[in-house]
Amino acid sequence: RNEEAQKILEAHQWLSKLYHHLLKHTKEGKEGLEYLLNRGFTEEMIDHFHLGYAPNSKDFVVRFLEKKGYHPQLMVKAGLLSSNESGDYSDRFRGRVIFPIRNHLGKTVAFGGRAIHDQEPKYLNSPETELFHKGRLLYNFDLARSAIRKQGAIILFEGYVDVISAFQAGVHNGVGTLGTSITEHQANLIRRYVEQAIICYDGDRPGIEASLKAARLLRKAGCTVKLARLPDGMDPDDYIKVNGAEKFQREVLGASDTYLAFIMRHLRKEYNLNLEGDRIAYVERVVKEVATLDHAIEREHYLKELANEFELSLDTLKQEVSEHRRRSG
Ligand code: ATP
Ligand code: MN
Ligand code: MN
Ligand code: MN
Repeated sequence: RNEEAQKILEAHQWLSKLYHHLLKHTKEGKEGLEYLLNRGFTEEMIDHFHLGYAPNSKDFVVRFLEKKGYHPQLMVKAGLLSSNESGDYSDRFRGRVIFPIRNHLGKTVAFGGRAIHDQEPKYLNSPETELFHKGRLLYNFDLARSAIRKQGAIILFEGYVDVISAFQAGVHNGVGTLGTSITEHQANLIRRYVEQAIICYDGDRPGIEASLKAARLLRKAGCTVKLARLPDGMDPDDYIKVNGAEKFQREVLGASDTYLAFIMRHLRKEYNLNLEGDRIAYVERVVKEVATLDHAIEREHYLKELANEFELSLDTLKQEVSEHRRRSG
């Protein structure tokens, strides 16, 4: 079993080298390379993240792995090949740009493949295997670790493209959660390294929902959370391409909201504060969130803000918060 895992790891290392070589030095890889360069990734980033290209072939990888002595059945288990009912093997990734996914030890344990034309799905990742658990791994954590320590903060992105774009923009403490949400396991992993987490998910509905979920899990794990401020509908990579590195650092990361400011900003869009009923519901929602804050000074800060805006007495709000805190122990 251990031997099997070893073989699977090795196969990933070989394949990652092959994909990278194909991208950089072959005719087949040219459209992959052009795709990446057109998206604004530099050669340096392509090397640093060891990006690659999977040729548009049914069995290029089948033959490559067979020649290296890996049993195709095991390679299916590794998520590198597909097989059908009649026992034919075929390449899993075809005609896609490849992002090797490394574990915290720096070993490639999976691949992400992005379509370069409009094939579906846009992203095809390796399946879960004994070496790759999507909910346990943070993309780029191995390379970001020292920057995370040095800066005392980790930045969370949704996608690998965002991590790479941010890296190119000088932000080296970014990791990717491979999709929109974070798990409790990942939150605890993060807390073991650093206290401050900045969530920089996509500025769309799913991104905002995922930000709130991630913020709650990270806070539960004991992190201090900030949430970056992206314009509606933009993701970090889009923002950097349009506005540049400096503005990204200053206006997106630098001006990130506290958890409560983020909640308030988004709840305001859900309620019509001109209506009395909505105003009350809004205040109640916010008060409930304030009650989850650990520091009395912080709680008072937001309660004062609410009291002023809605012409309520601070005492009433404080009482309400105490009530919530008492109930939740
Ligand atoms: P791009 O800029 O290339 O369109 P993106 O990173 O903005 O990519 P999103 O659609 O925002 O793409 O998805 C964010 C992340 O979610 C991806 O990087 C990928 O890890 C994951 N993801 C998205 N779609 C899929 C999918 N169909 N299968 C698996 N993972 C996916
Ligand atoms: Mn998205
Ligand atoms: Mn995105
Ligand atoms: Mn994007």
